[in-house]
Amino acid sequence: MKIISINAGSSSLKFSLINMENENVIANGVFERIGIDGKYTIKFNGQKYEKEEQLNNHNDAVNILLKELINLKIVNTLDEIEGVGHRVVQGKDIFDKTVIVDDEVMKKLDSIKHFAPLHNPANMLGIEAFKKALPNVPNTVVFDTAFHQTMNKETYLYAVPYEWYEKYGIRKYGAHGTSHRYITETTAQILNTDKFKLISCHIGNGASITAIKDEKCIDTSMGFTPLAGVMMGTRSGDIDPSLLPPVMENENKNIDEIINDLNKKSGVLGLSGISSDMRDLETAYNEGNERAILTMNKYVRRITDYIAQYYVLLNGADVIAFTAGVGENSPLIRKLVCDNLACLGVKIDEEKNNIRGKQALISTPDSKIKVYVIPTDEELMIARDTLSLIKNA
Ligand code: AMP
Repeated sequence: MKIISINAGSSSLKFSLINMENENVIANGVFERIGIDGKYTIKFNGQKYEKEEQLNNHNDAVNILLKELINLKIVNTLDEIEGVGHRVVQGKDIFDKTVIVDDEVMKKLDSIKHFAPLHNPANMLGIEAFKKALPNVPNTVVFDTAFHQTMNKETYLYAVPYEWYEKYGIRKYGAHGTSHRYITETTAQILNTDKFKLISCHIGNGASITAIKDEKCIDTSMGFTPLAGVMMGTRSGDIDPSLLPPVMENENKNIDEIINDLNKKSGVLGLSGISSDMRDLETAYNEGNERAILTMNKYVRRITDYIAQYYVLLNGADVIAFTAGVGENSPLIRKLVCDNLACLGVKIDEEKNNIRGKQALISTPDSKIKVYVIPTDEELMIARDTLSLIKNA
């Protein structure tokens, strides 16, 4: 059985074709510059196939993808594709799990699209394109927010007028839920139990920390949108909103422009003035660059703050897991964070920590909390959900 996982953006569409018998990726790639001009890359069998071709819309991208899967002999017929799973950024409190797409689901998606205007409408274009191209193949929607729906009210509400929640849905929704769920399931496999306290640190260009008890989300660092929480590559994380008016006035910018600055020009990039990429920051940090040192200390501090907060919330922790681009690939960040947690009895083995992109236990045997690196796999999680819904349909 083969399943396609899709992550559709406004001008791009990423895919992974997965063989669910062994969970191996058969092919993956990306269609880019949709609606502008168009180019695509398909990787399979250790080969990379790249082409420039006009992509007027998401339908073009999906039709060309399906044609290329046959042309490149990645599949013999399209009948081999038995399901398509779509990542959707925002499911609000309407969706607390993955569901099969039908007319009712599309209506609900349409009713909440303004909650993630940059992402949800694009995700929906991907779904519509596959519904058209493969009308007999089930589509599922997998939400970034769904895993966080187990947070209680006292956790997800902001201390703002209650009517804002009632009237406008203003509350914490969180993000990266599919990744945190993957880390949770993998931790359960490693520990061979579903009873554990886990602090899952998804630290990539976007970053979020989640407190998990017995496989359920208790709290997460992102908020109403993925702008909240820890400091990220280009996002500020938590700030005091009262700083907005003076900046708007002095910079002569409107609210959309300032929110854009907080999303795209802040975080590691904004504070360091060097780059949003942790590899560049590490190089400058190691060279003794002052702003890089300041930025690194702040970055590590924000992660530590959330881990410490969640340690208290969970009344202890069995596992701290690092994942995503930085979490999987930066021994330095992991070490600096864990050094900050020494008072909780966290100790890492520097030799074991010297790995990138591989699952490993990096804490010492006498560490009070086990520290793992667990590479995330959101595409596989989407495909697993899709398979399980199709089987039970
Ligand atoms: P992601 O959003 O999960 O794809 O993570 C992307 C980020 O991971 C990049 O922007 C880098 O900051 C970071 N990253 C990737 N490789 C490394 C590495 N070898 N060392 C440090 N950071 C890395």
